[in-house]
Amino acid sequence: MTRRPRKAEMDTATDGYDKPSCTAPQAHLRPLPVDIDPRRAGFIRYNEKKWVNGTRLRYYFFDRNTDGIGGSWVGPEAQKAVVRDAFRTWKDLGIGLDFEEVRDREDAEIRIGFMVGDGSWSYVGRDLVEFVTDPNRRTMNFGWDLTTPHGRDTALHEIGHTLGAPHEHQNPNAGIVWNEAAVYDDFRGPPNNWPDDQIESNILRKLSAAEVTGSDWDPNSIMHYSFGPGLIVHPTGYAGGLTPDPGLSPVDEEWVRRFYPPLEEARDPELRPFESHRITIGAGEQVNYTIHPQFTRDYTIQTFGAADTVMVLFETVDGEPWYVDGDDDGGTDFNAKLRLRLYRGREYVLRLRLYYADVAGDTAVFMW
Ligand SMILES: [Zn+2]
Repeated sequence: MTRRPRKAEMDTATDGYDKPSCTAPQAHLRPLPVDIDPRRAGFIRYNEKKWVNGTRLRYYFFDRNTDGIGGSWVGPEAQKAVVRDAFRTWKDLGIGLDFEEVRDREDAEIRIGFMVGDGSWSYVGRDLVEFVTDPNRRTMNFGWDLTTPHGRDTALHEIGHTLGAPHEHQNPNAGIVWNEAAVYDDFRGPPNNWPDDQIESNILRKLSAAEVTGSDWDPNSIMHYSFGPGLIVHPTGYAGGLTPDPGLSPVDEEWVRRFYPPLEEARDPELRPFESHRITIGAGEQVNYTIHPQFTRDYTIQTFGAADTVMVLFETVDGEPWYVDGDDDGGTDFNAKLRLRLYRGREYVLRLRLYYADVAGDTAVFMW
């Protein structure tokens, strides 16, 4: 494709580059010590926005007439159906994350608006719960019709951000050289009408190699924008424009299964007070423990050893996991530590993902 479709073709053209692009905010990256080992920093960046596997993410559609500032956040049923279907598409890959629609905004990590003209965007991964704590705020918006092929891909793309994926066209491994003047010119105009800082943040800025999901470059990723002719100088094969294939690419499926593999059927080992469990997993991997407290009292759960971990405790209520508390010591000299009251007769699951350990197998988790 080397030319832009004429206006008459645009309504039916599936070439994404005449369609508006996502305006997701940048991920909040934690500050790291300047003298940190680059390998350790790399593993932290690689994992820091991802959820612990086994998390059940609950989503909510705004539903009150008063929801929305400068426009309504309430969407029609047909749009919601596309979003539900996109969640199902990700889940059907067999991943260990779960999605559930809820009617109460207070129960939801993902809160979705459909404000026309406000762009389509989502916060990235755990930024949802760390930076959007007000239940009356959106974590995701859809600013255009989703009942088109481009709209269906938009829903998959925004959920990809929610799962922790950044933009693939900002992958530094891609080696894309932009015609920057042409990029500004294109995205300043319709249908995007972006200010320059948006163009820099969402297109021209390269991510660090560690932030991307590990691919060399996947121009067919659902996380890749479409670009019209004349915007990409290198690789020269895309000088005439780049339109990713619709839907999830094989590489998309591979990364999401790597971060969120199917949960084992086997029962997780029991974590009991005063028993140390050695952690022998590799960087990015996860271990899970079940906890059945024998007494109602305050407990401390802590990791030991020079490791960076994220540790999250869920309570199982009627077979469903509910978040209780979490800690993340990635990039610090501290250990992940939870101090909280656990109740006799209840069941808890501890999920612990290792970013990085100085010495494999030199880490343990202990409860007392
Ligand atoms: Zn995006």
